[in-house]
Amino acid sequence: MPRQTKIIATLGPAVASEEGVRSLVDAGMDIARLNFSHGEADLHRKMVDWVRHAAGETGRVVGIMQDIQGPKLRCGEFPGGAIDLRADEEVELVPGTGEGDEDTIPVGYDSLLEDVEPGHRVVLADGMVQLEVTGAGKRGLKARVVSGGQLADHKGVAFPDSNLSVENITPKDEADLELGGKLHVDYVAASFVRTGADVEAVAALAGDAPVIAKIELAQALDNLDEIMSASFGVMVARGDLGVQLPLDRIPLIQADILYRANAAGAISVTATEMLESMTHSARPTRAEVTDVANAVMTGTDAVMLSGETAVGSYPARTVAVMARICQTIEEGTLSTRGEYPVAFVGDENQIASAVSQAATQIARNVGASTIVAFTESGSTARLISKYRPEQRIVAFTPNEGTLRRMALFWGVSPRPFERKVSTDDEMTAAAKILEEEGVASPGERVVMVAGVPPNFRASTNLVKVHQIGEAAGGLGG
Ligand code: PEP
Repeated sequence: MPRQTKIIATLGPAVASEEGVRSLVDAGMDIARLNFSHGEADLHRKMVDWVRHAAGETGRVVGIMQDIQGPKLRCGEFPGGAIDLRADEEVELVPGTGEGDEDTIPVGYDSLLEDVEPGHRVVLADGMVQLEVTGAGKRGLKARVVSGGQLADHKGVAFPDSNLSVENITPKDEADLELGGKLHVDYVAASFVRTGADVEAVAALAGDAPVIAKIELAQALDNLDEIMSASFGVMVARGDLGVQLPLDRIPLIQADILYRANAAGAISVTATEMLESMTHSARPTRAEVTDVANAVMTGTDAVMLSGETAVGSYPARTVAVMARICQTIEEGTLSTRGEYPVAFVGDENQIASAVSQAATQIARNVGASTIVAFTESGSTARLISKYRPEQRIVAFTPNEGTLRRMALFWGVSPRPFERKVSTDDEMTAAAKILEEEGVASPGERVVMVAGVPPNFRASTNLVKVHQIGEAAGGLGG
């Protein structure tokens, strides 16, 4: 059985060559993530070419996710590049991106004085430094250093207690989304969304690419249901989430997001620091292995690598280690898969969801090892996947975009396919491909999910138990 949990790997300087990207594809990367918080347009363009080239050469289907920066707030600059802040010192936060000093921190947010109130926390440099706003200053806000540390130029600034009125899409995001459209990226990951409307605004500029909403703000957790219905999937973005909320809450929040996303039929991604120590070490820690395992056992569709592959010393090895952990855990939990908690995915397409659920039950009851889906949009494959069958899911599509998008779906092996005039012809052709590839042997039962008439979106209404080698329309044994 191929690995079912999908792997997203972030591209960066560590793999910025044709061979570097190829090594990740060979190791098992399913989706390449381009982090638009870093890197020039020209490098992103090259990365896309390298991914598509490596996928073509290896025959693997690899999708591309464009992760836009969103409205991340940053501090300005300091003499010598950094300042040291000590507990109980008083500093002033001033709106702007210019140069500060030992007592003054410029923050790139114009409405600082209007939106941030006394008592609100200010978290700097990914949580390394924390302040509390105490009142109005001469030019900005006075704040007390609660936990001190070094603050370097352009570090991130977060206001977990404040309701900020920032625009969700920056001019940089707009330009990046335009480039993403030209590069035909397969997904857009939207950073710092707060509401369903924020997701819709990104989706309006993302063309055909479905939006994965990054859950990284406390506000996004409050609006999770509306964010989930506006997006194709959600990412538990534990890096920034851990800046906004106490770290000990992250595991429960992660489990809740994964459960709710899966129950809603949305794609779920678990991200950040999964194999962090492999950025510099050839082996992961026991805790990291257990973290990846926990995400797999609690139903994540995909696990993501960030710095490990973008700037790490062992990028391909890290992907291979992650692949092995996922597969070991999947095999070890196969016998309890039937207890998976998704009862019925009340998706936008009720008939397709009911047929998909039935297909997974039939497959178990007739001892099939493969479920085949014929899909235009990918929705049938996603729904079958959400019922977490024990069988491999082979999804045939004539649509190139759908093919690459399905690389992110748990347990789905995407296959290109030529449209046929009848459902019978589709089934016969698919069975032949499976037999030729050695995926299924003569006499074996395969469960097929299709739509009549074929080749229409959202027409899934048919499930058939097909015996390999039988003529089209036969009844099987
Ligand atoms: C995160 O914060 O966990 C995340 C995935 O986003 P980024 O890598 O863009 O900070």
